[in-house]
Amino acid sequence: MYSDKIHEVWLVTGSQHLYGPKTLEQVAANSQQIAQSLDNSPAISVRVVFKAVVKTPSEILQICREANNAENCIGLICWMHTFSPAKMWIGGLQTLTKPFLHLHTQFNREIPWDAIDMDFMNLNQAAHGDREFGFIGTRLELRRKVVVGHWQDAEVLRQVDVWCRAALTHNEMQTTKVARFGDNMRDVAVTEGNKVSAQITFGYSVYGYGVGDLVKVVNEMSDGDVDSLVSRYMDEYKVAGHLKETREYSQIREAARIELGMRTFLEDGGFTAFTTTFEDLNGLTQLPGLACQRLMNDGYGFGAEGDWKTAALVRAMKIMSGGMKGGTSFMEDYTYHLPENGTDMVLGAHMLEVCPSISTQTPKLEIHPLGIGGKADPVRLVFDAAAGAALNATVVDLGKRYRMLINEVDGVVPEKRLPNLPVAQALWIPRPNLKVSAASWIYGGGAHHTVFSQAVTTEHLQDYCEIAGIECCVIDKNTDVASFKEKLRYNHLFYSLL
Ligand code: MN
Repeated sequence: MYSDKIHEVWLVTGSQHLYGPKTLEQVAANSQQIAQSLDNSPAISVRVVFKAVVKTPSEILQICREANNAENCIGLICWMHTFSPAKMWIGGLQTLTKPFLHLHTQFNREIPWDAIDMDFMNLNQAAHGDREFGFIGTRLELRRKVVVGHWQDAEVLRQVDVWCRAALTHNEMQTTKVARFGDNMRDVAVTEGNKVSAQITFGYSVYGYGVGDLVKVVNEMSDGDVDSLVSRYMDEYKVAGHLKETREYSQIREAARIELGMRTFLEDGGFTAFTTTFEDLNGLTQLPGLACQRLMNDGYGFGAEGDWKTAALVRAMKIMSGGMKGGTSFMEDYTYHLPENGTDMVLGAHMLEVCPSISTQTPKLEIHPLGIGGKADPVRLVFDAAAGAALNATVVDLGKRYRMLINEVDGVVPEKRLPNLPVAQALWIPRPNLKVSAASWIYGGGAHHTVFSQAVTTEHLQDYCEIAGIECCVIDKNTDVASFKEKLRYNHLFYSLL
């Protein structure tokens, strides 16, 4: 669904006419080689296309206008092989609406000690040319990523790819549509927010539907399609014997009908993210659990209780991590483990809707009463999340602006079995520990709903926030509460002055 060889970043090399045609030909040939190398690299997940050596203000303006209008172009990589006086860049950079990465590299890896002469010096000028370019970016207060190092280094490729994934996500979010089946869970504050502001900042748009609109489509699904989906469930999951008996089997069929209806509704409307709410199920016989889990596993964004911000963020992080190892899921900090030995842990789960992508187990298909909501017992997949490094992220609506909070965590395997837990779960130790993590998260206004990902890294999200222009606060192994609070205060002041 996401491995992307359609979208492009354009390598644009800055220079000037001062050096004469021969040097400029060399600049173009070298740029071509770098672009080709990035494009061929399996480490870079989008196309990299060499576009031009720009030498005048009008050439720079023209390439920026072209980038703005090119549907497949998700951003620019700019590099000054030689010096390129940056007053020439003002018009173009002020016009550019796509994100850009400043690749501070040099064509020649090493100084040829015996052979170095003024020709070499005049060609390999990035050391000062890129600083001139950097100045004008800062002078214009432009958001961008600066990556430093030789263009063949693995670490450079990694950083470039992280940014490409953020740019790709930003690009995708401009046309993303979120469907809301029902409204927010009543009186919940953090799942509310301003949808117009969100669209202006992130690009995605949110469409509300009555649950009846969905029920109508669910009821139109054919019995034959329902039966074949049920038999796929039976093949893909561990299904207890008694579930094949009549009463439970009819509920599995009902879950399949809901999945088919939701899928059809979302596909027909061009939606790639959605929300449900258990307070509003009119006409749906059970809270959609299995359907949400399977749709998330296929790359859809999901938020429970009407949480459209988290639904959009799940979708964003699914795109960001396309083809990468590890899963991404809607998540909720559910309950704590606070042993006397101090290794405090969080058990993350939800009523039903955790994405099986975060597990390496074959999920068990189960039916249990919900306990709240007063509907038929919903069908769900039950599994344990895989252990290892992960993170939780949330987007907070602060009224006038948005803040992303990220907490790096270490997923762990429970020491004991949880035979009576009827939902999928993830267990983690937050970095640096629960005390610092939770206090910082709470001071930052972070939601109880998050996106849990074993694939997306802090750097992906930082790059994405930089492109979207929102605050990004990280809680990691180095965080202490006092400094974190101070950072929130300084950031508040900074964003108030913008
Ligand atoms: Mn919830």
